[in-house]
Amino acid sequence: MSTAQRIDGKAKAAQLSEEITADTAVLLSEHGIKPGLAVVIVGEDPASQVYVRNKKRTAEACGFHSVQHSLAADTSQEAVLQLIGELNEDDGIHGILVQLPLPEHLDEQAVTQAVTPQKDVDGFHFINIGKLTSGNTADAFVPCTPAGCMLMIEDYLGTDLSGLNAVVIGRSNIVGKPMASLLLKSNATVTVTHSRTRDLPAVVRQADIVVAAVGRANMVTGDWIKPGAIVIDVGINRVETTVDGETTSRLTGDVDYASASDVAAAITPVPGGVGPMTIVMLMANTLRAAKLSAGLAA
Ligand code: NAD
Repeated sequence: MSTAQRIDGKAKAAQLSEEITADTAVLLSEHGIKPGLAVVIVGEDPASQVYVRNKKRTAEACGFHSVQHSLAADTSQEAVLQLIGELNEDDGIHGILVQLPLPEHLDEQAVTQAVTPQKDVDGFHFINIGKLTSGNTADAFVPCTPAGCMLMIEDYLGTDLSGLNAVVIGRSNIVGKPMASLLLKSNATVTVTHSRTRDLPAVVRQADIVVAAVGRANMVTGDWIKPGAIVIDVGINRVETTVDGETTSRLTGDVDYASASDVAAAITPVPGGVGPMTIVMLMANTLRAAKLSAGLAA
């Protein structure tokens, strides 16, 4: 029987979205500023198209000025960099997001580093990574997924994680590494694990906080979880099941929810956990960029 509290990322994201919308209206009425978000997508990747549509819809719902640049899959590196240069100069745009992955002929690093750090609402620019890693987050942009995970952890455990062991599974630049930096900043004792880690279940069993960001369906099972731990499942995996000859697909996380929720104190579901929080943190970062650009407190 499941005993864990289900951490409702969807509800929390909806509440944050309301706050952002209210704040955006004040920014417009008192300062004449409308946060502007530009999303650049290159190519036809179906999952990316869905993500971009969701981001645009949420930006509009928050009252932002929202623009989408959909470029053909064979767009040259020079053309992408030129567009980013124009968006960097555009006073109506406060946040620029380049949807990843990019087609193979494009240099992902050159493109993400071309976004000016002040408009880097994804938090991928080396300046923002450096600020986060050195604990200087006052005017840094933190990557949206770990920022959203952190809010859910803080809701449950408070902002000071002194004395708690956190284990992050996955060391990507987008999730695992910035997640570790945020946990460390909140005084947790952090272990970052990855595909070369020896006896991963034993390491995870030490954790009061588990963040799984791997991309392997249901890899983390209940017997890996320390009783009473909080489990944040970042993974989004599409699995196909065939029942009576009919194949359907559904989304599942990196954590086996059924067995883990018997042991954990709290756990995020997939879908409805980290995913909605990621999108709303993009809006929070864009609003913040708009305020910072006008010299206002963020
Ligand atoms: P990635 O592929 O860049 O990194 C995966 C990491 O997992 C790597 O560091 C790798 O070392 C580690 N890993 C792989 N196999 C492992 C194993 N057997 N044991 C331990 N570690 C292993 O992926 P990513 O971009 O960090 O994304 C991870 C997952 O999170 C994916 O499912 C992705 O779709 C999902 N994701 C979700 C959101 C969201 O908003 N919910 C955002 C970003 C990513």
